[in-house]
Amino acid sequence: MVRLSVEKVAKTFGRFQALRDVHLDVAPGEIHGLIGQNGSGKSTLAKVLTGYHAPDAGGRVLVDGEPLRLPVHPRKAAARGLAVVHQSLGLVDDLTVVENLRVGRFRANRLTRAIRWDEERRDASAVLERLGRPVPLDARVGELSEEERATVAIARALQDATPGRGLIVFDESTRSLSRAGLEHFYDMLEDVVATGTAALLISHHMEEVLEATDRVTVLRDGVVVEAGLPTADLTENDLVRAIMGRTLEQVIRRAPSGPAPTGSDGGVIVRGLRGELVAGVDLELHPGEVVGVTGLSGSGHDELPYLLTGARPARQGTLQVGEDRHNLARFDVGTAIAAGVALVPEGREHAGLALELTVADNVLLPRRRTRSAVLPVERAAETAVVGEWVERLDVRPPDPSQLVGKLSGGNQQKVLLAKWLATGPRLLVLHEPTQAVDVGARQTISEAVRRAATEGCAVLVAGTDETELTMLCDRVLVFRDGRPVRELTGDFTPDEVVESIFSGHIRKRLRSATPPAANG
Ligand code: ADP
Ligand code: MG
Repeated sequence: MVRLSVEKVAKTFGRFQALRDVHLDVAPGEIHGLIGQNGSGKSTLAKVLTGYHAPDAGGRVLVDGEPLRLPVHPRKAAARGLAVVHQSLGLVDDLTVVENLRVGRFRANRLTRAIRWDEERRDASAVLERLGRPVPLDARVGELSEEERATVAIARALQDATPGRGLIVFDESTRSLSRAGLEHFYDMLEDVVATGTAALLISHHMEEVLEATDRVTVLRDGVVVEAGLPTADLTENDLVRAIMGRTLEQVIRRAPSGPAPTGSDGGVIVRGLRGELVAGVDLELHPGEVVGVTGLSGSGHDELPYLLTGARPARQGTLQVGEDRHNLARFDVGTAIAAGVALVPEGREHAGLALELTVADNVLLPRRRTRSAVLPVERAAETAVVGEWVERLDVRPPDPSQLVGKLSGGNQQKVLLAKWLATGPRLLVLHEPTQAVDVGARQTISEAVRRAATEGCAVLVAGTDETELTMLCDRVLVFRDGRPVRELTGDFTPDEVVESIFSGHIRKRLRSATPPAANG
């Protein structure tokens, strides 16, 4: 028996074919990976399964051996146990956590039609607790962090799963989860698939795909290039090669820089920095140096980007950039931009980009902020700036008048980076800069950041992705309890990054044992 069977599915948008003759089988109790570059058609397939897109005529979708009428009717798909956590998460920002979890599925008292909120709340908190995230039930979803938002969306899908039936699709839903969040997620998913329910996991994180999935299917330009390969036999390189059709070039790390920066050399000096989590940190960055900060979620490395850029006030601390010294307790975003300090925050859709504006307007936003009006003579200069950055970051399509909301995730992230690189920062601070972007975009972004460093910018990268930190950074500081406790320099490997984050902590495997790919 096959839980989900996709046969000959195609999808054309206008004249563009996003999916061609796609076949996919997912076995009962299986976690099946679906990978491919941005734009390869993964989300389109997920949306065909929920009825958001009507596929071209001629294909078939079967759940538990029975064909679904196409286009899929959302309610019928749900009744057959097909649930999808969409890439956008599909949450309503103005509603609370509990309202989002229960929307459309309230149990009302049959006589009074009143919603039984106490039961709703109990069920909602039980699921969130199992995911290891005590998300406040009455918080508005718009105010939550990326990780909390993802947890709410995942919880909503998991509570809808029918034991022993159907399939849940996770479209990059785990992208913002910390390692601890991932471990909780897979604990819970393990229980779900143990009943025979299946999961289709879309992720750019190769390590996660290798650790957590039983088999993997690879899409390239809307075509399945590898179908249902058992992951036990594969390496990260195998996956990259299948996705790209070639292997990645390695970024060459430079030798560590010389004596401590003085300020007059354009370096960056941080003294006595304290925030909510950061507990008294001194830090120095040479001009041209890329320094990584990492640690478990909440260890302080993840607060640093916001304290250094005026996005969040520090309790105390100073930041010296070149000759200028700033009090971080009274620093704000406007002052930071004027001082040449730029932040590329996590969660591009919420923090960094105006999706309803064009690529050009987004790139020019920080420059215009410091000016009241744009003179006609400045227009030509602006056009040149935008053109240059679109080209440097290989934004696709290379069209400055394209709305950012229409671009793929990787290309949005490139625009976000371009926006801040175009300000010519002296200190560039990035938080999880390649989260949820494909391997090709990751390479482009890494190269652009390294190039900014070569041109004299000091760069701080906060994140937990070991591949990203290894590709980008000259050295990496590992945080625990608000302070750096370890420094990796020279030729460190991704494994050493992971090991140093988790040393002293027990790092669980994402799945205890890989069950047989099919049990029926
Ligand atoms: P992935 O999820 O693998 O990154 P998508 O499925 O989102 O890729 O997109 C596949 C291709 O289809 C992309 O080239 C994208 O631009 C195009 N596409 C997706 N949705 C639409 C749409 N509604 N209209 C036109 N083109 C679309
Ligand atoms: Mg997608």
